[in-house]
Amino acid sequence: MVTIKSPREIDTMAAAGRIVGGTLALIRRQIRPGMSTEDLDDLAEEFIRSHPGARPSFKGLYGFPKTLCTSINEEVVHGIPSAKRVLHEGSIVSVDVGVLLDGLHADSATTIAVGEVAPETQRLLDVTQASLVAGIAQARTGNHVGDIGHAVQQVAEAAGFGVVRELVGHGIGEQFHEEPQIPNYGSPKRGRRLVDGMTIAIEPMITQGNPATKTLPDKWTVVTADGRLSAHFEHTVAISDGEPRILTLVEG
Ligand code: MG
Ligand code: MG
Repeated sequence: MVTIKSPREIDTMAAAGRIVGGTLALIRRQIRPGMSTEDLDDLAEEFIRSHPGARPSFKGLYGFPKTLCTSINEEVVHGIPSAKRVLHEGSIVSVDVGVLLDGLHADSATTIAVGEVAPETQRLLDVTQASLVAGIAQARTGNHVGDIGHAVQQVAEAAGFGVVRELVGHGIGEQFHEEPQIPNYGSPKRGRRLVDGMTIAIEPMITQGNPATKTLPDKWTVVTADGRLSAHFEHTVAISDGEPRILTLVEG
C-alpha cells in the first residue's frame, strides 16, 4: 500500500532527515584512513541518540545489528560495521543511515572517498551522484515511477557504468520500506503514477563493471559478482506541491 503523508508528517520526516544528513556530514568530516567501520558506526549512533526522541532505524530492522550499513569498494550495500574492517587510503565506502523520529523514518546514503582515490573511482562517485540528482528531478506529480528509473539509468549507462537491478529504492514513512518500489531503471510514463504526499527513497547503486550482484555468506553484504567497484547515493524525497522536496539535507 502506498501511504500519502500530510504536510505535517512530511515536516516530521524532514526533521528526521536533518539528523540523517547531519550524521552523514559528521562522518564525511571525521573519516580517515585507519578508522574502522565500527568507529564510523559509533560516531553515528552517538550523534543520532544525542537528539531527543531519535533512534537509528536500522538497528534491529530485519535483525540488522548496527546503526549504519558500511559497504567498502566492491560491496554494494548492507555491509555490517566491524572493528576488523579498517579503511584504507584510496578506498570508497558507502555509508547508509536511517533515523526514526516521532514514528516516521528518513533514509539517506553517500559514498565517501577515503583519502585520495583514482580518477576513474572519482568518476564513478560523480556519475552516481548525478544519476541521483536526475532521478530526484523526475519525482513530481503526474510523472511515473518509471520516469525516475529511466533518468537514473540514462545518466549511469551513458557514462559506461552498470545499474544494479536486484536492489531498488522504496516508499518510506511509518514503515522503513513501503510501497512503491523505485527501481533505478525503467521506461518513461511506466509504473505507478506519482502524487502529492508520496515519500520515497531514491537510491541508485551503480557499478564500474557488470551490475550483477551476489550476497556474501554473512547473508547481508551484497557485492558485485565481478569484484569491481560500486557506489551508492540516496535521498528521501517528498512530492510536495507537485515538486520534489529532499528531506535528508543538512541545513546551514
Ligand atoms: Mg538507505
Ligand atoms: Mg533506502
